[in-house]
This record gives sequence, structure tokens and C-alpha cells, in this order.
Amino acid sequence: MSLQFFDTRKRQKLPFEPINPGEVRMYNCGPTVHDFAHVGNFRAYVFADMLRRWLEVSGFTVTQIMNITDVDDKTIRKSQEQKRSLNDYTEAYTTAFFDDLEKLNIQRAALYPRATEHVAEMVELIKQLMDRGHAYRADDGSIYFRVESYPEYGLLSGKRLDDLRIGERVSNDEYESKDDVRDFALWKAWDEADGDVYWDTDLGKGRPGWHIECSAMSSKYLGPEFDIHTGGVDNIFPHHENEIAQSRCGTGAEFAHRWMHCEYLLVENKKMSKSLGNFFTLRDLLEQGYKAREIRYMLASTHYRSKLNFTMEGLKGARKSLQRLDEFKASWENFPAGEPSFEIGEAIDRAEATFDSAMNDDLNVSQALAAVYSLVRVINSLAAENLATSSDRAKLEGLWDKWDHALGFMMPLADEMEESEVDEDFIQAQIEARLQARKEKNWAEADRIRDELAEKGIQLKDGPGGTTWEIIR
Ligand code: AMP
Ligand code: ZN
Repeated sequence: MSLQFFDTRKRQKLPFEPINPGEVRMYNCGPTVHDFAHVGNFRAYVFADMLRRWLEVSGFTVTQIMNITDVDDKTIRKSQEQKRSLNDYTEAYTTAFFDDLEKLNIQRAALYPRATEHVAEMVELIKQLMDRGHAYRADDGSIYFRVESYPEYGLLSGKRLDDLRIGERVSNDEYESKDDVRDFALWKAWDEADGDVYWDTDLGKGRPGWHIECSAMSSKYLGPEFDIHTGGVDNIFPHHENEIAQSRCGTGAEFAHRWMHCEYLLVENKKMSKSLGNFFTLRDLLEQGYKAREIRYMLASTHYRSKLNFTMEGLKGARKSLQRLDEFKASWENFPAGEPSFEIGEAIDRAEATFDSAMNDDLNVSQALAAVYSLVRVINSLAAENLATSSDRAKLEGLWDKWDHALGFMMPLADEMEESEVDEDFIQAQIEARLQARKEKNWAEADRIRDELAEKGIQLKDGPGGTTWEIIR
């Protein structure tokens, strides 16, 4: 099957051809660095990484750009609360983000442009939009995009302009100064809540809106027209809808040719999110003893357009699957010397072709993994009959390398080399808290502590000499 990807805008899978043969230019909406990213966010970045990897395996060179949103309401408010400068505050989380990317074996983009360093480009684009009649200044000095001036608004998300007007009027009463409730801010005039965060520009004193940053930075680094734009499904509306409106009206060019969005990581059927409080950061999970490779496997092994439920069971399942792959790889060492086996050569070719055609079909990773496990089964049974030889190893290794390039989890990652750290003082304190709870006949609390430790892979054992513990995974 030739390469095809689903296009959110056209609502169907379509063959993929980059604008310039052999070269793909891709923009990924990146993090707002107001806190540590959670693994739901990383689903979006692992997806973008898998897409890039598959394009590379398919022979394209990929120029990947991901923005860092280092100015918005949250970063401003939180930096003020901590009495730190905006830059100082966001830099800490930007560094943490890069650390996490590396741990998850997410390949580095060519560039991570920061919003605060591209205000001049945003101002230029806003001026262009004003000149072309797509933007206006409101009474409060802020500048808004006039949605009505772009009749194609809503094509990406499938929302109709008239429906938006009715649906959003009530909740938007606070934006008295806009001409139309659907209009969105390109430039926010300074107000006291912004403190010392502002830019003095031709547009006045203020700061850019969120949407304009991606329009300005994507075209600066990839040109006004490029191949792929990605994000999570929550970016479709309004963020990407607004990006399209700004870019197309500002430059006249088509902007991104293909829009690809990954579905949510859920917790008990709700989107994992900061606001719901149902989130785990990568750090949380690593502290609990899970490996970055297991987390990557969990995030990457479900098709990006399917919702994925996050559970500890899922992570343990990922561990088992990886163990199986590692055991298989280790077994190659025991293949006896001999001529290459025709059957193994054929099985490898078949697995490679099935994997390729599954990934070409909109990154159908579940089918691709089925090809991997099927190969494992076939070769294990041939090896059991002594039909696999050391001469078959090179071909297997070649395929494994290719699959590792595509998936990023076929080989152990850096953190697996380190011993998992167990906080013994913490466990001891928990054992004492549980003992106290039991003395007070608070069985529910005692059980809660035991279960919480079990979740972290620590099993308590009550014996005549007191309570001891052991690591169960
Ligand atoms: P934010 O930092 O909130 O702008 O989010 C960064 C990226 O994470 C965006 O592309 C979101 O669409 C994505 N995202 C946020 N929550 C989830 C989730 N639960 N599952 C998948 N992607 C998510
Ligand atoms: Zn964006």
C-alpha cells in the first residue's frame, strides 16, 4: 500500500505526497510551559514523533518544528504567584520538557521556537491582517480577527459560522469590546494583570494572542505553505481553525496541506488534563518504577486516532510485551551455526511487508505490531526445531533496527540501564502510618496505604517480627 494519512479537514484518508519531492516540512503544536507536561500531552508528541519516524523510514527527509508557548495567561499568572520573571519561570519547565522528550526517545525537532522570541514576526502578520481588512482594533486597544471576513472559517472543525454565533454568545459576555462574539484576539492590549509582561510595538503596548504565534512561527521556519500540521484533537477548535484563518488571510497562501490530530489519552473515560487533576507526569510514573520505554510503548502502540485509556494495568502489559521482544532478541545469540534458512528469510520478508503496508495505512501501528509478534512466534517455533541459524541473525538485526527507527521502543532506552530507585524512607514512613491506622482500627486507611504501595510495585508482608516489604516488579 502506498503512503496515506487521514486528513482532519477532508475527513478521509488520502495519499500523501509532500510539496517538494523527498522533503517533508512539518509543524507540531508544542507545550505551554507553565508546568510539567503530563503523559496525555506526551501522547501528542509521541504521535508526532512516530509520524516523523515513519516518514524517515519511508525515505523522506523531515524538517520538524515545534513551538514552545512561553507566554499566555497561565505562565504569566503562575510566574507572578512565584514572584519570578516570566522567562525564569518558563525556562525551568522548558528544560524539563526537553528532558522528558529525551527520556521518551522522542527525536529532537530541528528547532523549538519560543513565542517570546518571535513577537516581531507576529506583529508583522497582525499588521498584514489589518491592512487586508481581516482585523480591527477594539475600544480596549486589543486587536481582533474578524471571523466574518473569512467565509471558510469552520471548514477544519466542521463548525458552521452561524452555529458558533448562537452557541457562544452567552459565555462570551465578558468580551464586550469585540464587534462579534466569534472574533478572537490577535493582540491583547496590556492590562494591570499582565504586570511587567508586555512588548512595546507598532501595535501598542501588549502581548500576542496564542493562535497568532503558531501562524507566525510556522511560516517563518517552514514557509507560508508546508506539508503537515499536527496537534491533539482539542487543538482543532478553536486553535487550528484560527491559525488557518490568520495564515490564509495574512499571506494568501494555502498554509498546511495536511492536518493530523491525535486522540485523547483518557483516565476513566475522561480526558487526562491538568484541570481535572487526573494526570500523571512522566516523573510521577518513573518514580513509581515504570520505565520510559514502557510508557512510550503504551502511548505508541494504540492507533493515534483511537482514544486510549491510561491504566497501570496498561503499563504492566507494556512491560510484558517488551520483555517478550527482548527475550526474543536475546534468543538469537543461541542460534546454532549453519546456512541461512529459506523459511526464516521468507518469514522476515513477509513480516517486513506487512509492517510497511500497515504503517503506510495511516500509521496503523496495531497491525504493524501484529506483524512483529507473528514473526516472533514463527521464528520461535522454527528455532525450537533448530531451524534458525546464526546466519539468519544479520537479516533479523537489520529488520529490528528498521522497526526500532519506526517505533522507538524495540531497544532498551537510556533509563533502563539505571537501577530503579526505591525510596526506602518513604516506604518505612508508610508502614508506620499503616500500623498507626490499624491501632486506631481504621482498616480502610490501612488498606489504602497497602494498596497504594502495591500500585507502586511494593508488597507489604505482615509477619511475627513486624511488617517487611519487597519489590514485586
Ligand atoms: P497544552 O500544553 O495544553 O497546549 O497541550 C499540549 C498538547 O497536548 C496539545 O497538542 C494537546 O492537544 C495535547 N493534549 C493535551 N491533553 C491531552 C490528552 N489527554 N491526550 C492527548 N493529547 C493531549
Ligand atoms: Zn499551535
